[in-house]
Amino acid sequence: MTHFIELEKAYEFDVYPKRDLVLVRGIGAKVWDVDGKEYIDCVGGHGVANIGHCNEKVVAAIEEQARKLISCSMTFYNDTRARFLEKLLSITPKNLKRAFLCNSGTEAVEAAIKFARFTTKKKEFITAMRGFHGRTMGSMSATFNPEYRKDFEPTVPGFKYVPFNNFDKLKDAVTDDTAAILLEVVQGEGGIHIGGADYFMQVRRLCDEKNILLILDEVQSGCCRTGKMFACNHFDLEPDILCLAKAIAGGVPMGAVVCSEKIQPPMGKHGSTFGGNPLACAAGIAAIDFMLESKLDEQAQDKGEFFVGKLKQHKFANVREIRHLGLMIGIELKEKSQPYLVKLMEQGVLAMPAGATVLRFLPPLVITREDLDFVARKVIEVLPAAG
Ligand SMILES: *Cc1c(COP(=O)(O)O)cnc(C)c1O
Repeated sequence: MTHFIELEKAYEFDVYPKRDLVLVRGIGAKVWDVDGKEYIDCVGGHGVANIGHCNEKVVAAIEEQARKLISCSMTFYNDTRARFLEKLLSITPKNLKRAFLCNSGTEAVEAAIKFARFTTKKKEFITAMRGFHGRTMGSMSATFNPEYRKDFEPTVPGFKYVPFNNFDKLKDAVTDDTAAILLEVVQGEGGIHIGGADYFMQVRRLCDEKNILLILDEVQSGCCRTGKMFACNHFDLEPDILCLAKAIAGGVPMGAVVCSEKIQPPMGKHGSTFGGNPLACAAGIAAIDFMLESKLDEQAQDKGEFFVGKLKQHKFANVREIRHLGLMIGIELKEKSQPYLVKLMEQGVLAMPAGATVLRFLPPLVITREDLDFVARKVIEVLPAAG
């Protein structure tokens, strides 16, 4: 174990706070370290592994495509990309008609920002406090937490942050130069905060009235995570631009911006060398097929109720609130979450923080009830019980 840790420590920048764990293998919701110790993975690659680690359909699709064609830039058409796009557009909200493919969440948000400025000829964006949209200049500028931005200024001008789920504050921030409102449906990094149905309805109406685009960032909440294919499906909410990444290609890097007919990106002014590459697209087709065939949305819904139901039967001393939509789960503590993450890891459960006080669980949606039950028991074991 220590050998690989030392190599990474020697040769890689410390941009992530890391845990002393070398993971080498995974199947479904389980991963193993280099010494063979097993863990239930409720980090799920930060919400990438929705269909499970090394999903067989995806593995087979990658193998087959790797023998045919791995790269093919977007200056040419490609059979696998064409089939992926058709599939992607068959699962996204009906008003969305075309997509741009890239390689990550932050790139999807960057494209959305450019497309929105170009389409509306307006400059400003309103985003939410506690929102998270990525680490590159545009998406970082859209991200509220000043900690992410402060050493990298000047940021991209034109971004305003308002309290999430507060329509009046949002409305007050609108000006004649507002190009788009950019929101997560369920805030992930910000601590698992779920927007309300009324809020989203009012936001959609405001956008229509004022000719403002609605961009939804479902990089984390998409792909069956919340119990529907996309979290916006819970609210019959139709965005003008939907940003996707993380789980969309079964673990292979892929991002997508899926747009309504209002969006008209210019020819020759945006692109991505790796975007829409056949390998990622083949994985994406297999991943979406798996989501549909296994009714992964319903599984996430049922398993989320099961897991949170177990926790809610118990009285904890230090839990402020348990929030969830499907298997996107946050346990907000009255104290820092870090020591409990360490304890869970010692007990064979990998979970992650969302802010300082929230324990976040994003297990692969294929996780068995037995494993979920194990995770719930471990949470009950490590968190202090009430009186
Ligand atoms: C993870 C995440 C991103 C950034 O995705 P990357 O692939 O890491 O660039 C953007 N938005 C949301 C909501 C995310 O959870």
